[in-house]
Amino acid sequence: MSTLIKNIHILTMDEEKTTYPDGYILIEGSDISSIGHMKDLPEKVKATEVIDGKQAIAMPGMINTHTHIGMIPFRSLGDDYPDRLRRFLFPLENECMTESLAYHSGKYAIAEMQLAGVTTFMDMYYFEDAVAKATDEMGSRAILGETVIDFPTCDTTEAYGGLDYARQFIPKWLNHELITPAIAPHATNTNSPEKLKEAARLAEYYQVPITMHVAEMDYEMAYFQEQNNLTPVGFLADIGILSERLVAAHCIHLSDEDIHILKKYNVKVAHCIGANTKSAKGVARVADLLKSEIPVGLGTDGPSSGNTLDLFTQMKLFANFHKTNLKDRAAFPAVEIVERATMGGAKVLGLEDKVGSLEIGKKADIVLVETDSVNMFPIFDPYAALVYSANASNVQDVFINGQRKVKQKQLNQENLKDLRRNLSEQMAAFATSAKKRL
Ligand SMILES: [Zn+2]
Repeated sequence: MSTLIKNIHILTMDEEKTTYPDGYILIEGSDISSIGHMKDLPEKVKATEVIDGKQAIAMPGMINTHTHIGMIPFRSLGDDYPDRLRRFLFPLENECMTESLAYHSGKYAIAEMQLAGVTTFMDMYYFEDAVAKATDEMGSRAILGETVIDFPTCDTTEAYGGLDYARQFIPKWLNHELITPAIAPHATNTNSPEKLKEAARLAEYYQVPITMHVAEMDYEMAYFQEQNNLTPVGFLADIGILSERLVAAHCIHLSDEDIHILKKYNVKVAHCIGANTKSAKGVARVADLLKSEIPVGLGTDGPSSGNTLDLFTQMKLFANFHKTNLKDRAAFPAVEIVERATMGGAKVLGLEDKVGSLEIGKKADIVLVETDSVNMFPIFDPYAALVYSANASNVQDVFINGQRKVKQKQLNQENLKDLRRNLSEQMAAFATSAKKRL
């Protein structure tokens, strides 16, 4: 199976930021086998399928480095309540979250991401085996981590049951082509030091990633300050679990010393600007992290924290907040923000040899963003068009691992109406209970 996409404006996002304003991409199997200017397209190229891109912008599939895709049912519930986490999220999860609900939520969330040009994501949730099944069926690329937390949850009867769950889950999915299993301790202050070390040992044993919420909450900062005069990052260094395996989500509250420590242990950061500012928690020191050459990718956080799973929204919010924070409109030019959503995310997830840029030999995770819509004219700078003008509804075609997942703005292999109906049916008990808490 081979697909030729022609007449496209290609932003490769490779090291040199090579572009082909009138270019082509040839996909063979799961890989990009050729890419270049239309004028250099070999005459004898034979492709099973030929797509005329009609001057769409071709970019690498976007990478969402932090989310909880089982949480679609929570979207728009209690958004403006100060105690949302403990009033809605934790109790409703324990009462109403089921394996089937996580599975159907997962499928719906992946559809939403595919339609928005997100081809890879990192997830932390419960029933992660059902989330993996959903991911496998939808054909997205993902790193999936079972949550470990210090109380019994919807999928375990004991505190820290996620550790045993992960012992089954990780080996089961270890050799999947698109899925990498992981382990996900919930946060620095919702796990004991012993259990955090156990999770890190498990990740080490299976050579898989570990992800955790770090330095996100004010009370998390106060807790470690009072306990041992440390920051959460200092605490993690102290108990010896920082490593290049760790994807630390949020990292809103960092000292200079914290940044030094993150760099020393090659920790990566998932930056969730939309969720962090909607909840009034703060803006992470991304400019300083990047200055220290710490990989930073973009994340939406769960659909109840960020309300959308698309990275166009995150790119725009990233620009607005960081430019304002730095009082410098020239800070973070659009090309650097597109890099955060693509190659930056790939480096955070350790997938930079496979995805993150459009290059020969890399996996064909490709997004075509149409330029016909009213908001996409004129285009003097394609990077600026993606960051400041475009939105998820401009995504026209999406390929993951060479498979066409979105065709002319519609799911190509699934029916969105069916996915929504299935989720809605599973949500009945959840919705009844949720309404009582409002
Ligand atoms: Zn999160």
